[in-house]
Amino acid sequence: MAETVVKIDKLVKRYKELVAVDHLSLEIKEGEVFGLLGPNGSGKTTTINCLLSLLSYDKGDIQIFGREMKPTAYDIKKDIGVVMQNVAVFEQLSVYENIDYFCGLYIKDKAERKKAVEEAIAFTGLEDFVKFKPKKLSGGLLRRLNIACGIAHKPKLIIFDEPTVAVDPQSRNKILEGIIDLNKAGATVIYTSHYMEEVEQICTRLAVMDKGRVIASGTIDELKSNVKCSETVKVEARALDDEIFEKVGELDHVFEKAYDNGELTVKYTGGKHNVVRLLNLLQNAGVHIGRVSSEQPTLNTVFLELTGKELRDKD
Ligand code: ADP
Ligand code: MG
Repeated sequence: MAETVVKIDKLVKRYKELVAVDHLSLEIKEGEVFGLLGPNGSGKTTTINCLLSLLSYDKGDIQIFGREMKPTAYDIKKDIGVVMQNVAVFEQLSVYENIDYFCGLYIKDKAERKKAVEEAIAFTGLEDFVKFKPKKLSGGLLRRLNIACGIAHKPKLIIFDEPTVAVDPQSRNKILEGIIDLNKAGATVIYTSHYMEEVEQICTRLAVMDKGRVIASGTIDELKSNVKCSETVKVEARALDDEIFEKVGELDHVFEKAYDNGELTVKYTGGKHNVVRLLNLLQNAGVHIGRVSSEQPTLNTVFLELTGKELRDKD
């Protein structure tokens, strides 16, 4: 069994009346890329800030590397790298000087630090920008600088809080690939996001959050295997009459159907040949069929079934 890197037990954090984190428990093992997935305001950043002892909390226990986490636990903090949601760098320092500054908080030996800084620059692809001040950098490059500052000292645990928000697709892919590489090099990663696609792409295990609570956790396959809806089929079908619509509902495994704006949506609990059976039925009834699509469950399906609302927001 891999070692436990982070253990959070029944964490509660209130901002006055608002319970931002509500009896949250998590266990993260060495070598994982652990996702915290939840919509804006679900309590991800608050959880991270409590985990890092940057924020006091009302109840709960937090252990990192098997030891109690406290504001003064510097021996623990030196093995943690943090890439915060809001970019935090010094405007008056260059790219190189910023990375060197943050790395210098942990690595005092000059030669060792120079090597670490150069590796962080190469890793984030900032070679051509080392002399630039932050305000000359694009949003994506600034994010990469933020990451370089957080990881240069080679921490064992790295926390990324929404590192791809408002980042162009090219930088986004570079960031995600970089996280995988850091994990392959031995780091345990915590990754928060409200984008389910990213979490599906890189996380080995995750917790789904809503209103400060963990509403589901496990591997992506485990979470998906618990959803009722195993397939959603959509068919463009003009002039579908009530009788055929009712017959669709009688097909095997169908548990929900809707017909709206010329589009038929059918949800299934299982089954292998749902699309073929549905198209046969429609064709035999003489329905004109347009575009057809079949969707497997996503983490959005998981979220939708547990909360009744969409995880996706349109940004
Ligand atoms: P997330 O990171 O998932 O978007 P946050 O942890 O930032 O969520 O916020 C959780 C809840 O706590 C939200 O309702 C937010 O408005 C509230 N909140 C966050 N920070 C503060 C604060 N400093 N004071 C009061 N309320 C806050
Ligand atoms: Mg946040």
